[in-house]
Amino acid sequence: MRIAIVGGGLAGALLALRLSQLHRPLKLELFTGGDPGRGDVGQRDASAASGGMVRAFERDPGAAALAAESLAELRGSRRLREWSRFRESGAVYVTEPRTEVTRSLAVVEEVLPGSAERVGADRLARDHRLGGLPPGVTGIVEHGAGYISPDALRTAALGRLADSGVQIHPDRVTGVTGDPAVRLRDGVRHYEAVVVAAGAWTPCLLCDSGLPSGRLRVRQIQYTLCRGPLDGVRAFVEENSGLYGRPHGPGRFLLGLPSDRWDLAPDAVEPDRALADEVVALAGRIFGVAFAAERTVASFDCYRDPPGLELRPVEGGGGGLFTFTGGSGGAAKAVFAASRRAARSLLG
Ligand SMILES: Cc1cc2nc3c(=O)[nH]c(=O)nc-3n(C[C@H](O)[C@H](O)[C@H](O)COP(=O)(O)OP(=O)(O)OC[C@H]3O[C@@H](n4cnc5c(N)ncnc54)[C@H](O)[C@@H]3O)c2cc1C
Repeated sequence: MRIAIVGGGLAGALLALRLSQLHRPLKLELFTGGDPGRGDVGQRDASAASGGMVRAFERDPGAAALAAESLAELRGSRRLREWSRFRESGAVYVTEPRTEVTRSLAVVEEVLPGSAERVGADRLARDHRLGGLPPGVTGIVEHGAGYISPDALRTAALGRLADSGVQIHPDRVTGVTGDPAVRLRDGVRHYEAVVVAAGAWTPCLLCDSGLPSGRLRVRQIQYTLCRGPLDGVRAFVEENSGLYGRPHGPGRFLLGLPSDRWDLAPDAVEPDRALADEVVALAGRIFGVAFAAERTVASFDCYRDPPGLELRPVEGGGGGLFTFTGGSGGAAKAVFAASRRAARSLLG
């Protein structure tokens, strides 16, 4: 079977790795669009910019299953921990009041027993410095969570693929067809399956190929690197305000808020200064200390409603053309399990 994957970000690289590990007679080719991470498609890709927070808890039980399986695999594999530079910081997830968390917590407990506990606002304020929260919030505290470098993980996976004989082409794919085939500057190549894992470039590539982009959209993601007089902070998401963050070395933090910039071209993304100011002010109110902004990193990801990194056939793509994207700002935490499922489903 001949398979082409378009995109050498976290999604494309891990899917290729999974396929190469399934020990089937496969001819696998990966098109990266230049030097992965800084390809000739323009902007640095999402995997190069990502904050890489990984935890098991998600509000949606299906998403929690993917995240928990991924975290379990990461924690259980020395190679993956080294490849991804895993740092165990722990994590806290604060939900909106009266959010149902029992089913997701049960999923986490099944995969990673004893790793997560439910706490109230008092413990969130006392143990995690998360103050000023509305009454009735629930906190999920995870002990084995942390963050990875998606960039380092993708680079290690691509290195392993090259060593195992997978053809990695730096070419930029200019179009895909339902034959299925990829169009390159110097001609068309045919395969039994083509998977577009081009992240935020995916909707555009499908559109330029005359194909529907489904429910895929591009959204800006940005965070600000800050200094602040705090220690012992875990990676966190605070749903009520939207603030999220993680430690970034002693006295330094990566802090962000969801962006309202949608449907932009990846190359046109630039920092939203007002949002960066809001992040610093809000973090100051929640943690009760003053933060100083150092630098804002603006990037983007491919979103989908409902979200999730998953192999999906392209409508009108003849059955052999797929996308593997739509992680919606959360693919780093799901990629191990999602790529395993996608590889199995691709090979039937
Ligand atoms: C700022 C930021 C912070 C994040 N933080 C977290 C987090 O804390 N936790 C978490 O779980 N997730 C996080 N994410 C999300 C996660 O990192 C992304 O979902 C994931 O990295 C996306 O990987 P990807 O391979 O789909 O896309 P990308 O990394 O963008 O890769 C797409 C690749 O396709 C290539 N490409 C594009 N067009 C073509 C073409 N025509 N031909 C060939 N190649 C092409 C590009 O060069 C690129 O290398 C974050 C994302 C961002 C941007």
